[in-house]
Amino acid sequence: MKKMSDFGTDYLENAINEIEDYVIILLDLDGNILNWNKGAEKIKGYKAEEIIGTNFTIFYSMADRHSHKPLQLLEVARKNGRAYDEGWRLRKDGESFWAGVTITSIHNKENEIIGYSKVTRDLTSRKREEAALKRLNEVLQSQNKEMEQFVYIASHDLKEPLRTISSLTGLLGKKYSGHVDAEGDQLIKYIVEASLRMQNLIKDLLDFSAIGINTQISTIDCNLLLEGVKRDMHATNATITVHQLPVIKGYEIELRLLFQNLISNGIKFQKKGKSPIIDISAEREGNYWKFAIKDNGIGIEPEYQDKIFMLFKRLHSRDEYEGTGIGLAHCKKIVEIHKGNIWVESKPGIGTTFYFTIAYN
Ligand code: ADP
Repeated sequence: MKKMSDFGTDYLENAINEIEDYVIILLDLDGNILNWNKGAEKIKGYKAEEIIGTNFTIFYSMADRHSHKPLQLLEVARKNGRAYDEGWRLRKDGESFWAGVTITSIHNKENEIIGYSKVTRDLTSRKREEAALKRLNEVLQSQNKEMEQFVYIASHDLKEPLRTISSLTGLLGKKYSGHVDAEGDQLIKYIVEASLRMQNLIKDLLDFSAIGINTQISTIDCNLLLEGVKRDMHATNATITVHQLPVIKGYEIELRLLFQNLISNGIKFQKKGKSPIIDISAEREGNYWKFAIKDNGIGIEPEYQDKIFMLFKRLHSRDEYEGTGIGLAHCKKIVEIHKGNIWVESKPGIGTTFYFTIAYN
């Protein structure tokens, strides 16, 4: 096989000259340009005869030149052997492009620096995509904030008149119960029930918009947290088994709500007369703890397994199972502020397992 040296220096020079996607040039010790390849012409816009011999500072903006950036980069390459930089550079027509630049020092046999190689890539489209993504992210975040504020204000302001309706219909019921006809009594009862349901809904919405606000990260022993959750669930016929759980960093009030929601769903969505069995465990998976809350309940049909995490999404009528359809949307938001994911695996008629991850730290 032939060696590089068999080709001679012309071969290498020609090869470099033909490259179109990168600017590959050599600089002398002062930064003067010694050669020009096709990529340089394409990316920077100058022809070889216009630019060879010029100092490479020409590619930098006035501000960069004033702050001596080009010379500083040569200095770093001299000291460390290599300097990398990304920034806006100028084409001949004055237009800017986002460049990724690597400057490498070149040594002679005596190990003295005799110049530099400079490889530049045009990263403008990547930079524009990043900027567009960032802008989109900012818009989404601000829309999200506005939405949360709207939910908060709307539900907060709904509370007051609703409380008045509730208490007045309650009074009406007490005062006229038995004095009007049975249908009237029934109608008043419906109004009282509906306004109570609406109060619950508004409370859930307010809780939803408050998730992640004014809360502090703390170290949480999930075993203790679950003992508390179990204690609060008095009067249940469920068997709740909690396996060894980790100590994690997170938002305590929110995590308690997450476990409460998932466990109470496991108990609630159960065939009448069947005793709920709930099993809670966690295992380490890469950089995450993966928690599993398993039940032996009615299960969820595959086509609904994604939809149930949406706000107000319910699969059953109120007569079958009580609820507002907010619990799992809550859970999703709580898991997301812990930078994790939540999903479900379920077999209708056999049971459901909710999984969620929390970053390990
Ligand atoms: P809610 O419990 O108020 O109805 P959720 O948001 O907690 O609202 O749950 C949404 C829907 O997902 C429920 O209405 C139910 O149909 C289904 N679901 C949630 N958890 C379970 C479970 N463990 N087993 C079966 N179905 C479930």
